[in-house]
Amino acid sequence: MFKTCAFCNAAFDGDGGPSGLAVGRRFAFDEWKGRLWLICGRCSRWNLTPLDERLERIETVARAAVEGRLLAATEQVALLRWRVYDLVRVGRPPRAELATWRYGERLRARARDRAKVVVPLTVAALGLGIAANVAAGGSLGILVWNLHNLADWAYVRIVGGRRVQLVEPPICARCGRIMDLRARHVQHSRLVPEAHTEIAVLVSCPSCHQEGALVSGADASAILRQGLTFLNATRAGRRRAEDAARVVDQAGGADGLIREVARREITLRSIRPERRLALEMAVDEQAEVQELERRWREAEEIADIADGLLSSTPEIEEHLKRLREQQDKSQPDS
Ligand SMILES: [Zn+2]
Ligand SMILES: [Zn+2]
Repeated sequence: MFKTCAFCNAAFDGDGGPSGLAVGRRFAFDEWKGRLWLICGRCSRWNLTPLDERLERIETVARAAVEGRLLAATEQVALLRWRVYDLVRVGRPPRAELATWRYGERLRARARDRAKVVVPLTVAALGLGIAANVAAGGSLGILVWNLHNLADWAYVRIVGGRRVQLVEPPICARCGRIMDLRARHVQHSRLVPEAHTEIAVLVSCPSCHQEGALVSGADASAILRQGLTFLNATRAGRRRAEDAARVVDQAGGADGLIREVARREITLRSIRPERRLALEMAVDEQAEVQELERRWREAEEIADIADGLLSSTPEIEEHLKRLREQQDKSQPDS
């Protein structure tokens, strides 16, 4: 079940090592909050691991981390290498610091991803271009700069062409067609306030270019994440990640920023780049917390049912009563 990245769909690399998950090479854990993430080797996003046995897994990962070599650390976050595994220890970090680390990492992965397209394209085009340019009497410097920009544009196009995976593809209310959304289509969509749901997006139809559907819930957050990734693909940098983290903080957290942006009802592409990266962070963060909460509720429900079953069986009831009496007896009087 836990084999591919929830964000980019790539198969996880590695064998899981100390996590016992059988997949993954890079893990993040928070002993305080009982969280364990598998970090995607391709997009560097943090995939929250299934709740079952998580505490046990965190324990073995934490033990490995103690034996590991410290590669880098801030006050609250430490990157350790143990054998071939990278372990990120997180401890009660303030938002700005954690976000910088996480998003700095992610932006670097994005830069690597871009280099895979941009460099070969530039090199290939260079061979063809020099002859033409020399013949036309142009300057080589300007040519190289142009080719690089062209290759960069090609990369952004690739990201923009990625299909948005939805549980329920929306149907356009204007033209009646099923919307086959690509990341680049989302830039014309707007985050709007909705009383009954955390996130609602008014989606612009790729066929008729009108606002044709209101999507909410998990699908809305999937649309936002991919659309914002595309819009934010054009520039990257650690500094920007820090600034964006500050924007989230100033809005009073992820919820606050999402509400603020929704109130203004502007298209995603007209949001300031800094704020746009902040929004991408906020949506990611909210989705993760919601997933965590969902898991927790599920676990609580199961625990409730299990407890209910136990107390309703007379034999067990009797057994528990005896246990309690024994315990009372063995406790010294005070
Ligand atoms: Zn991924
Ligand atoms: Zn339409």
